[in-house]
Amino acid sequence: MIELLSNYMGGQWVQGQATGSVLVDPVLGTELVRVDSTGLDLAAGFAFAREQGGKALQALSYGARAQMLEAVSKVLQSRRDAYYEIATANSGTVKNDSAVDIDGAIYTLATYAKLGKSLGDRHFLLDGEVASLAKDGLFQSRHVQVPTKGLALFINAFNFPAWGLWEKAAPALLSGVPVVVKPATSTAWLTQRMVKDVVDAGVLPAGAISVVCGGSAGLLDALEEFDVLSFTGSADTAATIRRHGAVAERSVRVNIEADSINSAVLLPGDAPGSLAFDAFIKEVTREMTVKSGQKCTAIRRVFIPESLYDATAEAIKARLAKVVVGNPRNESVRMGALVSRAQLSAVEEGLARLKTEAEVLHDGAAHPLVDADPKIACCVGPTLLGVRQPDQATTVHDHEVFGPVATLVPFRDLTHAQMLVRRGRGSLVVSLYGSDNQALARTAVDLAESHGRVHVGTPDSAAVQSGHGNVMPQSLHGGPGRAGGGEELGGLRALNFYHRRAAIQAHPDVIQAI
Ligand code: NAP
Repeated sequence: MIELLSNYMGGQWVQGQATGSVLVDPVLGTELVRVDSTGLDLAAGFAFAREQGGKALQALSYGARAQMLEAVSKVLQSRRDAYYEIATANSGTVKNDSAVDIDGAIYTLATYAKLGKSLGDRHFLLDGEVASLAKDGLFQSRHVQVPTKGLALFINAFNFPAWGLWEKAAPALLSGVPVVVKPATSTAWLTQRMVKDVVDAGVLPAGAISVVCGGSAGLLDALEEFDVLSFTGSADTAATIRRHGAVAERSVRVNIEADSINSAVLLPGDAPGSLAFDAFIKEVTREMTVKSGQKCTAIRRVFIPESLYDATAEAIKARLAKVVVGNPRNESVRMGALVSRAQLSAVEEGLARLKTEAEVLHDGAAHPLVDADPKIACCVGPTLLGVRQPDQATTVHDHEVFGPVATLVPFRDLTHAQMLVRRGRGSLVVSLYGSDNQALARTAVDLAESHGRVHVGTPDSAAVQSGHGNVMPQSLHGGPGRAGGGEELGGLRALNFYHRRAAIQAHPDVIQAI
């Protein structure tokens, strides 16, 4: 029988009591490891995290916890090669795509370590200015932010087993809040291994980090009033979570990162052959193929002026045709697999839905697979679709196909483009391309109300821009509306989620002493 991975709860490694779920190599179809969380004493484990982990973390200053994050990032850095092997086997990703997850995690930790050091010896944060509550100024109000006494539960999606953990854990631990992570079952191995390495290295106090691999049963029931819950995954699961008593009755603070129909827009005025046009084509193609399109931030809708529909289709098709798809172990392969047969079916079903109103401009099914058996491997080539009547189309604005698929959408003018972009009902990111800085700035501000992030690509920044889909720890991640309404990262803003804000009203002498 293949190895059953242990859970880490209550400061101990504990195996589930059932056979568990088998994790599978999505390219070769081989069985890798099993995970199971049956029979864990979650109430006791969560209490241990709050009481032991929380207390030990909060005894330290922000500066000391920042050093801890640095130590965590060094542990992960020293085991990078093992993580790449797990990612190839369990996620079916090529090296560059594994890097987005693994090196992205390490970079995010290192960034929070740096940011945290700037907070120094403090144990709580001041918020805003002192306000006078009495005419003579002898009674004042001062807001403070204090770390919550609860724990942070992370329920994560399958596509970022490394970054998905650490982009949340870095600000939580820096805030002094212990974390419990429940990775998505299909790719739980990498998360479990990273937690194991960090626990074994002894760089965090007991109870500061726990991992539950396997089913989610009972996790939300074990949450208490001062805990926080950060969820990344589908809108359906998000809705179930919002209705749970922990959220609805016990006011557990919740952050939701759900699905999103992100857009890229080429503003009018930059013809094929221009630097802006070329940068746009390059980014769209990259976004379609990185991690086989399994990125919550990936470009799903590609907006172009009507007159450029055919030229854009040709330019993207030319690049997509060169994408070699298959087994990530083969050096020539640029795009690996989807994560599971279930995801492959979901992508095929989603494509069928989109095709009811869109034309196929480049068919991913026509890509031969390199070193991979199509009957076993969860690989699929990139597909570009197009809708010539975007006002009549609905599915393209509504249905997220979580794979290497994007749809070309023509617009008449910028007002029309913005109206169509907003039909995504709130997204994580929109990117704008062009060379008219004034028009780009105006459009960026206009679209900021329905996006967590607006990424602007101009010829002047082409060589250094961070990429449409790359989530940088310095910038906000999350989006309004159907994207879940959440907020993560954004530098030290991320700490807000793990702190409680309170107003202290007192004589200025007391306020001064705070
Ligand atoms: P999912 O099916 O909703 O699963 C997400 C997580 O929720 C998994 O850990 C899953 O565990 C767990 N879960 C399932 N049912 C649950 C329940 N009733 N109570 C508590 N937890 C439960 O989503 P997915 O298919 O893994 O992820 C794909 C989706 O995530 C896409 O729509 C994508 O857009 C979105 N996503 C968003 C972001 C973002 O930052 N906004 C990032 C990545 C992905 P099991 O695996 O054990 O079922």
